[in-house]
Amino acid sequence: MTQKQRENFYRTSTVIVEHGKEVLVLLLEDDLSKRNLTLIDFVNINQHAIFHLCYNKHSCCQCTGGTLARRNTFSQRVLHPCQLDILFDKTGQTMTGHNFNSRVQFCCSAAKQSLTTACLDITLLRCLLINFVPSCTGAVRKDVEDLIMYRNNLHGHSQEGKISDTDYSGYKKQIESVILSIAKHCNKEQIIRQRLHDATVRPLDETISIQYQNTLLAEMRGERKTEEINGKLLLNCDEVTNVNDNMSNNILNVDLDCEVSIDEVLKVLTQAKNGKAPGIDLISTINNIHDVLEQQKKTVKERSKY
Ligand SMILES: [Zn+2]
Ligand SMILES: [Zn+2]
Repeated sequence: MTQKQRENFYRTSTVIVEHGKEVLVLLLEDDLSKRNLTLIDFVNINQHAIFHLCYNKHSCCQCTGGTLARRNTFSQRVLHPCQLDILFDKTGQTMTGHNFNSRVQFCCSAAKQSLTTACLDITLLRCLLINFVPSCTGAVRKDVEDLIMYRNNLHGHSQEGKISDTDYSGYKKQIESVILSIAKHCNKEQIIRQRLHDATVRPLDETISIQYQNTLLAEMRGERKTEEINGKLLLNCDEVTNVNDNMSNNILNVDLDCEVSIDEVLKVLTQAKNGKAPGIDLISTINNIHDVLEQQKKTVKERSKY
């Protein structure tokens, strides 16, 4: 029984991790070929907007007149810096207009020359398709979103690495239907149908199963981390900005990435004077903010243990 449940997990994760990603790559490549663009061109054309999907609270050197353009503003952080690291070369040449005093990672960084669609994970593919591929609208867009939803359902099983027979037959139907629908859009229905069939009959491979389980667990942790940053740290950064507008330039230079950045924020804060005018949340002294951030730092560290 347990072995069967393990096999169910293996088959479902194979379909999502391999073929879910495969059809999203097909969709992106289909669009790029129609527009006669390489992936590197595509990333460079959208560099500024992709950058702000991660660093969404402050302007960069590409923002007109130092102001974050409305169209580049996202209320939530969509991408994590480690995803920008897949796309951009932070040590290479920067785009025209870069301010070399800026310490923000990936500001004006161009696409990595080694970038191929094989480097992209399923979350990153979804993000690029939804935000930057004009043809990804209507029914296709819904298919992409549904595929991600089914992948997220699988996250719920990834800790144990097992799926019951009832859940398996339901998932199989849903996931295969959405994958075939995307494949059809790219005129690759036949080949993908064959691959889905192969995935249902090939023998259980424990090594691959563990590898996919780890992939799903890592995605889940990565997404939880991004959500935590959205919910907590960036909120705190807003509070900090409210306390003293002049400090926002310092905050801009902080890498807004996970735990380390809280130390950096604290460093900036402790360098500032006490008793600044209160922000909208009525935090009136720097010591209050220090306490808030210390508490936050503890919470993030606690959660990162899980
Ligand atoms: Zn900008
Ligand atoms: Zn820059």
